[in-house]
Amino acid sequence: MQLSNFRTHLDTNNISYKKEYLLKYETYFKMGGKVHTFVMPKNLIELEQAVDYLTQTGNEYKIIGLTTNVYLLDELEYTIIITTKYLTSLKRTPEGIEVECGYPLQEFVRVTLLESSTGYEGLEGIPGSIGGAIVMNAGAYGSAISDNLISISCLTSDQKIITLKKEQCSFNHRNSIFKEKKDWVVLSALFKLTPGKQSEIAQKIETYHIARHSYQEFAYPNLGSIFSVQGDFYREFVKQDTLYYMLCYVLKIFYKNPVMKFIMRKNPNNIVFNKLLQKYLLPQEITHTYSSKSMNILVNDGRSEIDKILNYLALVKENLDSKTSIENEIVISPVIVKDDETKKIIDKINASGLLS
Ligand SMILES: Cc1cc2nc3c(=O)[nH]c(=O)nc-3n(C[C@H](O)[C@H](O)[C@H](O)COP(=O)(O)OP(=O)(O)OC[C@H]3O[C@@H](n4cnc5c(N)ncnc54)[C@H](O)[C@@H]3O)c2cc1C
Repeated sequence: MQLSNFRTHLDTNNISYKKEYLLKYETYFKMGGKVHTFVMPKNLIELEQAVDYLTQTGNEYKIIGLTTNVYLLDELEYTIIITTKYLTSLKRTPEGIEVECGYPLQEFVRVTLLESSTGYEGLEGIPGSIGGAIVMNAGAYGSAISDNLISISCLTSDQKIITLKKEQCSFNHRNSIFKEKKDWVVLSALFKLTPGKQSEIAQKIETYHIARHSYQEFAYPNLGSIFSVQGDFYREFVKQDTLYYMLCYVLKIFYKNPVMKFIMRKNPNNIVFNKLLQKYLLPQEITHTYSSKSMNILVNDGRSEIDKILNYLALVKENLDSKTSIENEIVISPVIVKDDETKKIIDKINASGLLS
């Protein structure tokens, strides 16, 4: 397809878009090259019109929510990206709350608090949109977004809008049917409300919010945990080495007890554990910046280059159990392969085993 035909389609249907838009300042990780057409539907009809056209003409596109789980790379030039961030309608229905895919998860947690509905407290502090959270089955503290879900409305690859009941969405740990059906679009979700005591819900939200400060990176742009690790990241990392495993265990007793947590409350970090892993790995192997809160968090320090990022991700992956899956997604399509350099980058990522 001539990309210009798609723009004509958008113009005809009065769908907003930006041309040759630099993604770098749009994304949560503050990285990303130029995109030929950045589509910004204002309602679900516009979203469907854009997606239907691209499907009918056999063209690739990438849907993004608030980009809190995707690396869009400076080195790549993308063709078509559709953002859901303007799709933020929310309404009460007799069954619960129906919310469009672009609605921010953090605002949704506030809405459920005002409705005195319990069951959403554990989602406090997870950035992202409702659509992205559904795809990932985002969650924390033993709860997940699917817990109180009733159904999803989605657009399938054969351009039908269907309603899927929660049971039909194959929800699992950080997984859903939408990870497999990559060309389906989550349009909206219906959640149930479970009456609770508002002050208790608020208290739980507060507790989870404070807890996040101890392990979540807040200063540098980052995408949360790179790898989904069952258990302690540091111990899993050094598990093959009895000496380091024991050291890690002892350090944990010393640094992670309530007294030390209280002393370090204004500057919680994992610098000691990071140093331990550096020693374990030999410092020269680490070429990229990670968070002082955890080596499982990659940060953008303004000097991030694709090679360094890939080397770092590969290094962490190599040292974790082979069953550990990568949570963050590296987006390598749809791109314009304009030169050998682009091809080399894509081939390298394809070969890295880091694609989720
Ligand atoms: C600081 C930080 C902390 C985090 N903590 C947690 C945590 O505790 N638990 C957790 O589970 N996650 C966590 N995350 C990851 C992330 O916030 C969630 O996965 C989030 O739900 C992703 O939403 P998003 O809108 O940003 O999706 P994006 O990153 O924009 O997209 C993620 C994927 O979903 C697809 N997608 C997005 N919207 C749609 C749609 N409407 N239809 C179809 N596909 C769609 C995209 O194509 C992409 O493949 C954290 C991230 C950060 C940055």
